[in-house]
Amino acid sequence: MYTLALETSCDETSAAVIRDGRHICSNIISTQVPIHRKFGGVVPEIASRQHIEYVLPIIREALTVAGCELEDMDHIGVTYGPGLVGALLVGVAAAKAISFAVNKPLVGVNHMEGHIFANFLSHPELEPPFLCLVVSGGHTQLVQVQDYNAFVLLGQTRDDAAGEAFDKIARVMGYPYPGGPQIDSLAKQGNAEAIVFPKALHEKHNFEFSFSGLKSAVLNYLHTLEQRGQTYVAADVAACFQKTVVETLVEKTMDAAQYSGAVKIAVAGGVSANSGLAAAMERACMEKGYTFYRPQPVLCTDNGAMIGCRAYYMARAGLFSDLTLNAKPNLAIASAAGNET
Ligand code: ATP
Ligand code: MG
Ligand code: FE
Repeated sequence: MYTLALETSCDETSAAVIRDGRHICSNIISTQVPIHRKFGGVVPEIASRQHIEYVLPIIREALTVAGCELEDMDHIGVTYGPGLVGALLVGVAAAKAISFAVNKPLVGVNHMEGHIFANFLSHPELEPPFLCLVVSGGHTQLVQVQDYNAFVLLGQTRDDAAGEAFDKIARVMGYPYPGGPQIDSLAKQGNAEAIVFPKALHEKHNFEFSFSGLKSAVLNYLHTLEQRGQTYVAADVAACFQKTVVETLVEKTMDAAQYSGAVKIAVAGGVSANSGLAAAMERACMEKGYTFYRPQPVLCTDNGAMIGCRAYYMARAGLFSDLTLNAKPNLAIASAAGNET
């Protein structure tokens, strides 16, 4: 069974062909990062226009690399939320047109569920149930994956996402967008004990996150030194900030695992590419006897392959959308698939 999948929710235009849900035949990703970099973040209007320009050539390339034609596809998967409305609409319109033209069913995919399913592509042996920490540019969530189509949201951030905090702090320190990878490599050279930053909501069985206080504490630290005409050690700031985020994420995930009885722990989303998070989570899982899963780095950030994997498992369960499918910028995880507007 072949899935053609499109992803245009933010600043990556991506198309992939997936065989039987877990085999990547092609996964073409065109990133707009260099275009948005001069603005310090994603500019929605520019993102939409770029998607319009790239979506058809990227689909063509995905089919060519996979050695397939549109007619060979069994269904068409597409991200319909959450994300930027104008960006989502480009993928949704393209997928609907293809679905209609070649008469293949359409599958509307939740982007966050797609991030989780990247784990199935990197780990052929992985099957539900497991617990997944989803950490990305716009979300921080603890999700119980009970089955391929059954998710329970245990908790999420009240304010900033983890990735947002990484990006903001990097920006103030003068590093280009997106700052997460920069902080990751800087942190390796820093002293993680140099500065103590605050942790929020660390009570037991509290699965909510809050990163805005930590973000403000780091920004205040930088501004105070600046006002005094003093310099700061960027590597130490990065190491201490990252350590605080990582410890919070690991502690809450371990607490949630114990609470929910999970023995398999996965991470997903752009921030799961962070080397400090991966190392700490792996260590904690080893201590508790849990098995740890993480997608390969290219599948942590936005890509069409993860959407294809998710679409396959929805199609297998008959969770199709019709041509009234619309973009849903605020789509929540575990929403009923399909056409609610
Ligand atoms: P969402 O998935 O919530 O809609 P998004 O799609 O924009 O948001 P992703 O593409 O999943 O987010 O991830 C991008 C985020 O991941 C950015 O905030 C980026 O800084 C962060 N990121 C990428 N690599 C790393 C890393 N090595 N360390 C920390 N953060 C990272
Ligand atoms: Mg992106
Ligand atoms: Fe994403």
